[in-house]
Amino acid sequence: VKENNRKRLVSACVYPIKEGIEVSTSTEEIEKIRKNIIMLLLLRSPNNEYIKKLGEEYNVAPPERYMDASEVEDCILCGLCVKACEAMGRNAISFVQRGITKKVSTPYDEPSMDCLGCEACAEVCPTGAIKIEDRKDEKLIWYRGFGMVKCSVCGKELIQENILEFVNEKLNTEEEPICDACKRKAVASKFKDSFQHILK
Ligand code: SF4
Repeated sequence: VKENNRKRLVSACVYPIKEGIEVSTSTEEIEKIRKNIIMLLLLRSPNNEYIKKLGEEYNVAPPERYMDASEVEDCILCGLCVKACEAMGRNAISFVQRGITKKVSTPYDEPSMDCLGCEACAEVCPTGAIKIEDRKDEKLIWYRGFGMVKCSVCGKELIQENILEFVNEKLNTEEEPICDACKRKAVASKFKDSFQHILK
């Protein structure tokens, strides 16, 4: 970013936009640094598909002697999940530990009562590092199982109970849980009934 004739290397995607700044996302210097970062990411997560694709795209391959082919780490510690959770107003996850053991987790790696199970963290994760396990009648994320609300008409799993409670509380409402398909059917049937009434 160039501002008042001063150039600085920042993450353009999170840098606040201001009048008069000049943003470059590809210069010789940036490309060189980007390649070095991808090299480090490849050393950390050599088996992650997203990182492997980046390596191919930028033609980067770390020296084999530094690679651990058995490494299965997917998290690159970008912190987007922590920010997403913060934006949800929950702060259920954060960076814990230091140095090479630094990771994102809930306090003490235990189920957190602050977690809603909303999956926003998993949604923004670029490498798919946050796993969501579908179990019978519940979803497991961050060590915690979340019961599912079912459509009151067809019984299809709709949404995590906690999310529905959260939304109802925020909107001060208590809607009957009905899936989109059943809602459409109900509207179509009402429309059909009123149409027949007009024809009679
Ligand atoms: S699923 Fe839990 S940890 Fe992830 S964003 Fe939602 S509240 Fe936060």
